[in-house]
Amino acid sequence: MKFKYCPICGGKLEEKYSWDEGGVPYCPKDDIMYFDTPRPCVIVAVVKKDQILLLKQSYIFENSKVLLSGYVTNGETVEETVHREVLEESGLKVRDLKYLGSEYVNSNKKEIIMLTFMANYDGGDIKKSSEVEWVNWSHIDDALCEMSEDEVGKRIVRKVLKEINYSGEKAYRCDNNSCSRDV
Ligand SMILES: [Zn+2]
Repeated sequence: MKFKYCPICGGKLEEKYSWDEGGVPYCPKDDIMYFDTPRPCVIVAVVKKDQILLLKQSYIFENSKVLLSGYVTNGETVEETVHREVLEESGLKVRDLKYLGSEYVNSNKKEIIMLTFMANYDGGDIKKSSEVEWVNWSHIDDALCEMSEDEVGKRIVRKVLKEINYSGEKAYRCDNNSCSRDV
C-alpha cells in the first residue's frame, strides 16, 4: 500500500530519498519511512496420510474449497501464525512445518504476500470456527477438483503431491476439465 498520510500523526508525507529504494513516503515529525510493502499471510496445507484439510469460505470462492489461511499478526513468527491459525480455524494441532515458497497476490487492492506451508496433522478433532462455513478432510485425489477456482491453492496442492511422492494420476484428472466436480 502506498501511503500519502502518516498513519500515526495524520500529516502529509514527504518523499525521502532512500539509496536503494528511490523516493519513499516519509513523515518528518515521526521520522518514519513508509515503505510500500504487502501484508504477510500464511496459507497451510494440513495433511493426514492421504487426506488434506479443506475449507469452504464463499466470500473467497463461491464454488471451490480452499486451503486454510490467515494473516500474520505483529509480534509473532510466521511459524506461530501457522499453528495459531490452524488451531483457531479447525481445532487441530500440526507438526513438521515445511515451507513451500511464496505467492504474491494483488486483487481488490489487497496486496498480499502468501507464505505457503505444508504441515502434518498432530492431533485434535475438527472444531469449526464461526469464521469458517465448512472445514473437513478431503481425499488428496479430490483436492484439485474441489478447488477448481483457486489457482494459488491448486499450485500449492501440486507441490504437496510432489512432497508426498504421489505417484497416481487420479489427483490431476481435473487439469484438462474432464471431470464433473461436485463441491
Ligand atoms: Zn507522522
